[in-house]
Amino acid sequence: LPLEIPRDKHTFSRKNISPNALKVLYRLHEAGFDAYLVGGCIRDHLIGIEPKDFDVVTNATPEEAHALFSNSRLIGRRFKLVHVTYGREIIEVSTFRANTAAQHPAESDQRKSLKDKDTARSSHGIILRDNVYGSIEEDAERRDFTFNALYYNIADFSINDYCGGLADIEKRQIRIIGDARQRYQEDPVRMLRAIRFAAKLNFSIEPETAAPIKEMAHLLDHIPPARLFEEVLKLLGSGNGTETFKLLREYGLFKYLFPDTDALLKSGWQRKDIDPEAFILQGLQNTDERIQGGRSTAPYFLYAILLWPSVALRHEEFEKQGLPELPALHQAATMVLDNQVAATAIPRRFSTPMREIWDLQFRLPKRYGKRAFTLLHHPRFRAAFDFLLIREQSGTDLGGLGNWWNDFQQAPENQQRDLINRAD
Ligand code: ATP
Ligand code: MG
Repeated sequence: LPLEIPRDKHTFSRKNISPNALKVLYRLHEAGFDAYLVGGCIRDHLIGIEPKDFDVVTNATPEEAHALFSNSRLIGRRFKLVHVTYGREIIEVSTFRANTAAQHPAESDQRKSLKDKDTARSSHGIILRDNVYGSIEEDAERRDFTFNALYYNIADFSINDYCGGLADIEKRQIRIIGDARQRYQEDPVRMLRAIRFAAKLNFSIEPETAAPIKEMAHLLDHIPPARLFEEVLKLLGSGNGTETFKLLREYGLFKYLFPDTDALLKSGWQRKDIDPEAFILQGLQNTDERIQGGRSTAPYFLYAILLWPSVALRHEEFEKQGLPELPALHQAATMVLDNQVAATAIPRRFSTPMREIWDLQFRLPKRYGKRAFTLLHHPRFRAAFDFLLIREQSGTDLGGLGNWWNDFQQAPENQQRDLINRAD
């Protein structure tokens, strides 16, 4: 039985719910279905963070839910669910699901045959498909952490706690539901999620939840690179990148996300113009400040930061082999990107601007004649300039180049020519 907190004994109220999510909950309820909010929105509210998105769960099948909303779409292959669209806001509606990995001794034959068809596991025990519907209790059990298994019932406005999430929020700790090893085996990304929440919420990871991570980290090798790419953006691009980076390294997970960067950091390689660790930390700190200040960062910028030390190292190697500066850079970039995409895919729309940012690091010092004006209008100028400032902030002496470009951008045209003459 869940611990049920009645409406007057908790602070989550309809005022905290987006009006569109409320509409979805009421429509399901009026059609005779159970409807709950679950996951991040309840957790974040109870911790004192403004909820970001509202996920709805119901006993209606995706087809039944889809039929209730003309503004909805059935989506997903791995997980079938429904998106209800209101302008720019999307409310995700999913059906209660069972964790088919869990052992249910009293499982019916019907359920067993369903399982074979609708679930699948890789040779490493990772769940590939997971489309068996279940009860709300089963739905709670298959979630990752106890604080993510809190349900807000629209029928009576109570919060239902199936896995002890409220007590864990009280203790400010992240606790996996069930046996940690088994749950990481089923889905190794849960290890990354534990780190993400630890950094975001400033919670500790409960000892049994933390214990197997180091030795199971290698399971991330079996996760599709495209999924890891998405996960990296959430890990490092959500405003807590610095703390997340530290935790990822502490738990031996970083290696599986950025193998080259990890090896280079461990080797202690440095050059007078680059201190890899200081540079990455500076880049993450600037990114965190931007995001916390309500501004966004492009994924390619983050990736350009994390791979730059490797590019610098390879660049040096190619130059030693006799290649001129820019061809050496292009070779280095290709090599680093090729290695990286094996770990986390990088869509081409991101790798092209990454190359441009790196390229511009070698072109920004050469600001003679008309070049400075051309560079200023380069579509990647702004990002490359920010990147250059991070290099300087992390201790690289570029002879005041950042200041020069700063002045140049702000100066009226006649003074811009003076600046160019002085740089000559
Ligand atoms: P965020 O604020 O980052 O969105 P969230 O908890 O909402 O946090 P989502 O990735 O949006 O995270 O997932 C929604 C819910 O789905 C989670 O709260 C959790 O209950 C469940 N969930 C997500 N990923 C997993 C997973 N890999 N294994 C088990 N349950 C998961
Ligand atoms: Mg969410």
